[in-house]
Amino acid sequence: MARSSAVDEFSDLQFVVISGPSGSGKTTIVERLLDECPRLVKSVSATTRPRRVGEEEGKNYYFLTREEFETRREKGEFLECAEVHTSGNWYGTLKSEVQRARALGGWALLEIDVQGAAQVIRTYPQALSIFIRLAADADYELRLRGRGTESEEIIRRRLENARNELQHADAYRYQVINNQLDETVREIAGLIQSWKPAG
Ligand code: ADP
Ligand code: 5GP
Repeated sequence: MARSSAVDEFSDLQFVVISGPSGSGKTTIVERLLDECPRLVKSVSATTRPRRVGEEEGKNYYFLTREEFETRREKGEFLECAEVHTSGNWYGTLKSEVQRARALGGWALLEIDVQGAAQVIRTYPQALSIFIRLAADADYELRLRGRGTESEEIIRRRLENARNELQHADAYRYQVINNQLDETVREIAGLIQSWKPAG
């Protein structure tokens, strides 16, 4: 597969890519996985979306203005990036985060949307890609409302987007239904532990 010279430096690195509709449980699961799988190094994404209460710069995200994001994009600093949830907000994986995973000798864990995941899966066939979903379509709304972090308008937009994201689930190596949290984490940790790195 053809690769641009800009990304060749990561062709032997292991990536674990996790996606799923809003409310599927990605953030919760990733937090638990980091405890269970010490080899994982979470890539902290950059975003132009406003910070939520309790979120910390450099821990949850690097919060950038639209101008800062654009400048860094033009400089080629992103491994992938996308406008997510048609919100006007951009999200992206900084190459510096992937380099950090490499320097630590770990696997880069990317929790990113379906557009970004498609870019990574295409470029790095060795990536272990996992799509998290819920048993029933109605459950996304229940979980999102239960989380209570978004306005009504944003919840609606995210639910609309969930339908689109679910159509991309087949592009992933594995799909996992996040029903009971402990079981979900155990299942994904098992996939990671038995994943054979490329090469
Ligand atoms: P995402 O990051 O995919 O948008 P979150 O991790 O924020 O999803 O989870 C959405 C909500 O669902 C949160 O309130 C979280 O605590 C809850 N949640 C996550 N996993 C489960 C589960 N297996 N069972 C019940 N509630 C869950
Ligand atoms: P949230 O605003 O709820 O934190 O995240 C919204 C969406 O952005 C989620 O689907 C999440 O996976 C996605 N996302 C977070 N970071 C990145 C990133 O670096 N790249 C891409 N493409 N999507 C991301």
